[in-house]
Amino acid sequence: MLQEKIIETFLESKRFGGLPIALIFPNEYAVAVANLGFNASYRAFEKAGFDCERFIYSDGKIRSVSGNKNILDFKVWAFSLSFELDVMNVFEIFSKTGVEPLAKMRKGKPFVIFGGAMTFFNPNSFWHIADTIFHGEIEGNQEMLFTLHETIEKGLNWSETLSILNDFENVSVPPLGGKNVKLSKIRDLGDSFADSVMLSDSGAFGKTYLVEIERGCIHNCAFCVASKIYSVVRFMSLNEIERRISYALEYTDKVGLVGSSVSDHPELHELLEWLKGRVRRLSVSSLRLDAINAELIGTLNSLGDREITLAPEAGTQKMRDLLKKKINDEDIENALHEVKKAGLKRVKMYFIYGLPGEEQEDLDGIVEIAARTKAYGIIPYVSINPLIPKPSTPFESIEMRAADDLRKRERYLQSNLGKIGVKSKFESVRLSRIQWIISTADKELSLILANSQDRFGSLKKIEKKWKSDPSWKYINNSWKESVFGDLKISKEG
Ligand code: SF4
Repeated sequence: MLQEKIIETFLESKRFGGLPIALIFPNEYAVAVANLGFNASYRAFEKAGFDCERFIYSDGKIRSVSGNKNILDFKVWAFSLSFELDVMNVFEIFSKTGVEPLAKMRKGKPFVIFGGAMTFFNPNSFWHIADTIFHGEIEGNQEMLFTLHETIEKGLNWSETLSILNDFENVSVPPLGGKNVKLSKIRDLGDSFADSVMLSDSGAFGKTYLVEIERGCIHNCAFCVASKIYSVVRFMSLNEIERRISYALEYTDKVGLVGSSVSDHPELHELLEWLKGRVRRLSVSSLRLDAINAELIGTLNSLGDREITLAPEAGTQKMRDLLKKKINDEDIENALHEVKKAGLKRVKMYFIYGLPGEEQEDLDGIVEIAARTKAYGIIPYVSINPLIPKPSTPFESIEMRAADDLRKRERYLQSNLGKIGVKSKFESVRLSRIQWIISTADKELSLILANSQDRFGSLKKIEKKWKSDPSWKYINNSWKESVFGDLKISKEG
């Protein structure tokens, strides 16, 4: 049982005596504890006066993390939703508990709230089961959480609560029909809630304290939804990072720096110097290929981060230009040279295939980069994903390549990488196509999924004639000048 295995350390005192709320992460515990969106939601609800009981979805069951609570006893359910495929688990949770999924039929019993990355770009796939959807960064939604707390405490009924929450510009209230909404954002990452509240050896990164030191990304690669929804780029100050890590070091000596592109942090060098002698094991979520050098690799190595990932993303310049990746062959060559100079014997490499206009030579380019890596005496482990044209990106209106087409390309790559002795891992074509459908869903999809007994079967039928129809445009992802002032604004370029 879950409760017998998990030992947790909380970095903040648990709130008791607040209004009980079920905070649900519809995926495994290991993923939940390492998900900073989930940690931030926990912190946000507790600060607003709620007493969060965490639930996860594991082995086909909804489980309370503390092990002794029944979700049916909670009057408010808050889902933290980061990944498209987790939407399927949300529907499973309603089926397994026997709770009515459709908000208009359920009438607030329980009251169901959604937040998390999916609400930034397209919540249509779960639209009709939500009473309320918070759009954007949870730290910017505190006033609304206090209001929610007040409405529950005062015992206001479902309709009254919906009507009060509908006044917030960052909130959708589907039973009232929806409206245009804005993403909430914070200006200063010093106000961020996105660092670990809970530590556990059972987390995806072990007992590692994770802190988001950068939000948004200056590079704006065309395929990357994160750079669009988290725009404008913001960096946490060195002082603030040091303050947070110093506190966490009382509980663990493993630290993870999280961000869209951590190597862009203007004070990364100083931070790494400060970490020397303080942490036993550092991990860094992402480094730009063109920022890698032997000194940086050496420093990371000395701090226990022995795994370097390079993301050329495509095999030819034509395809990298299409992806607006802004790196060239020379950058790749330099990175390999630096990896070799640092004495590393293996790297992970990320590529995307199935791009518009992609030809055989573009696939051959991927194999060629893997071969060049081997020629440097470095073993590449290649991870390859099909392009999923996501909302908010320049690809949002194009069709994802058909499954047969993608599988043909996958076989070609797999066989040619195999011929040069390179191991490759491909994201499932079927699940990637489902991600595409969910990420580009219209609101009708939530009704189909709510009324279906065989949801994957329903998606399979839909898939054949699926067309991306940008019906998520009620979300305004533009920044508010009053919030960001003179911060550097990243534009699609
Ligand atoms: S560098 Fe990474 S995080 Fe930044 S836009 Fe490109 S893919 Fe996204």
